[in-house]
Amino acid sequence: METTLLSGKVFAAQLKEEAKRKVEMLQEKYGVTPGLAVIIVGEDPASKVYVANKEKGCHETGIYSEVIRMPEDTDKETLLAEIDRLNHDAKIHGILVQLPLPKQIRSAEAEILEAISPLKDVDGFHPINVGNLSIGKDALVPCTPHGCIRMLEMAGIKVAGKHAVIIGRSNIVGKPMAQLLLSRNATVTVCHSRTENLADITRQADILVAAVGRPYFVTADMVKQGAVVIDVGINRLESKKLVGDVDFESVAPIAGAITPVPGGVGLLTIAMLMQNTVFAAELQIK
Ligand code: NDP
Repeated sequence: METTLLSGKVFAAQLKEEAKRKVEMLQEKYGVTPGLAVIIVGEDPASKVYVANKEKGCHETGIYSEVIRMPEDTDKETLLAEIDRLNHDAKIHGILVQLPLPKQIRSAEAEILEAISPLKDVDGFHPINVGNLSIGKDALVPCTPHGCIRMLEMAGIKVAGKHAVIIGRSNIVGKPMAQLLLSRNATVTVCHSRTENLADITRQADILVAAVGRPYFVTADMVKQGAVVIDVGINRLESKKLVGDVDFESVAPIAGAITPVPGGVGLLTIAMLMQNTVFAAELQIK
């Protein structure tokens, strides 16, 4: 059986094209250009790359973009004041605070993220959005799992009735991924570091999502023949090589479909941020 390579590049291009059309529609119908503000505190090199990619995504889709660069030693009050200003800025429909935050304010992360208006919370981390997702109401949904679900839809992969197994239960990936799959009628199992007999469970998966943060964690013996394997992991090896959580070489021949790293879920995440910004603008127009 042929393995389908689920190229993030192809699906991200479709998502961005769709976002671009929606931006044009909002401009024509309401005279509104969706706007995204990204706040970056400090000099984390990986964060700088992500922020540059976000700016590029805005440029490609016609979204108005602001990047607010704050010094490494910014205190909580100053950051909260900036978020408050953006909450009231009519040009801005989406606000994203780039993580990780510098040490002195890291412990206040939850308070900082909750200060973002739920209507502008394009990362989908605010408890109101988390709650709305879990009860099936309109919600801004975290970009990475949301991008994975849209990819499955675009690839024509059936989710209803399938057994989806997720390795990882973070608030950013694992839990919202579980909610999204459940809402689409999959039977969902969530595994984590305390799960016993992990491979026995993952071998039952029709759809296997790896969001662990450990290079080459998922090996061929953990995967059922023909399974759809979504690799969310982004791990930088000492050699600087970027790899996922899945041992692609050994798993790809068994899988029915698989996402590569790089070139997979990471690209979908950025594209989905553009979609979320458009959706946030739509919610605010409503
Ligand atoms: P977290 O570290 O928050 O969560 C990792 C999860 O994996 C935890 O639930 C943990 O379990 C579980 N886990 C750890 N070790 C094991 C193990 N031995 N067996 C089973 N489960 C285990 O990571 P994130 O969810 O934030 O990210 C996961 C990966 O996805 C990372 O590589 C990250 O870089 C990447 N990522 C990629 C994105 C993209 O755009 N492609 C976006 C976001 C993240 P427990 O809860 O018990 O500790």
